[in-house]
Amino acid sequence: MWMLLAWLAGAAPAPLSQLSRVSVGGREHVRLQDWARLQGFRGHWLNSRDFRLTNSSARLEFTVNSQRMIVNGISVFLTAPVLLQSAAPLIALADLQTTVHPLLWPTRRQGVKTPLICIDAGHGGRDTGNLEGKRLEKDLTLSLARELAAQLRKAGYKAFLTRSWDTSLELDTRPEIARKRGAHLFVSLHFNAAGNREASGAEVYCLTPPYAASTNARGEGAGTGPLPGNRQNDANLLLAYHLQRSMVSRLKMEDRGVRRARWAVLRQATMPAVLVEAGFMSNPDDSKKLYSSAWRKQLAGSLVEGIKSYQRLIAPAT
Ligand SMILES: [Zn+2]
Repeated sequence: MWMLLAWLAGAAPAPLSQLSRVSVGGREHVRLQDWARLQGFRGHWLNSRDFRLTNSSARLEFTVNSQRMIVNGISVFLTAPVLLQSAAPLIALADLQTTVHPLLWPTRRQGVKTPLICIDAGHGGRDTGNLEGKRLEKDLTLSLARELAAQLRKAGYKAFLTRSWDTSLELDTRPEIARKRGAHLFVSLHFNAAGNREASGAEVYCLTPPYAASTNARGEGAGTGPLPGNRQNDANLLLAYHLQRSMVSRLKMEDRGVRRARWAVLRQATMPAVLVEAGFMSNPDDSKKLYSSAWRKQLAGSLVEGIKSYQRLIAPAT
């Protein structure tokens, strides 16, 4: 709770233009210690690779040569790794702008009294999604979507589904349905599968910022310019973070982090949009849970709480 209160109180950050730049590999970086001093954080090394920054309301951890950052206990992937130069950790300027600042200093938006949330049950019809034995991802996403819509309505939101039945729906039609019905948020629901049966846990995707590489793209995709969905970059990330945080902290799911990808359903979204991967059908422990309706109820509950946290942060100050 302390973090949330502090976040709500959050003053504006000092402008990044005050920091001196270091160019590495054609990309502008700043020294993390310089940024920390400017924004009132204290920094120290936890070991030879991990660097921690703290102030009264936030704790950030960075790892040299890694894109994984930890923000108040939750993993978030940067678009470029933190580097080490003359014993000083460097962060890409773009990552401060597109990831660190939007999470620490959320922008308040024009509020709506009763937000309308579009829930997208991944796959459907001839697109089964992942298959594990007799289990089809498209059926699980639909039952979770129905449960989430019911719980959102109980919590005072309005909600609708992109598909309410086992029907085929093109990927780019989904954000289009959300736009036509005037949705304020778009949440696409999926379940993971991997060859490695040990892989487990939750991850939430939001759209990769322009000219940045996606989390899983091994540096590819950096040539892609702005997409319509990038207009909501800051809100996309904030929503993804609070959904991930809620699943990890409430349900003790393994934290696979907030990630970036240019998924088709996120590219054209005209409202804040995320894609949730709520566990692995291929993992014995995850699947036992997610095949049970009691667990999916809890999962939906955690997503409702994540949406509430997001809404509290973006609501205009009173
Ligand atoms: Zn899927």
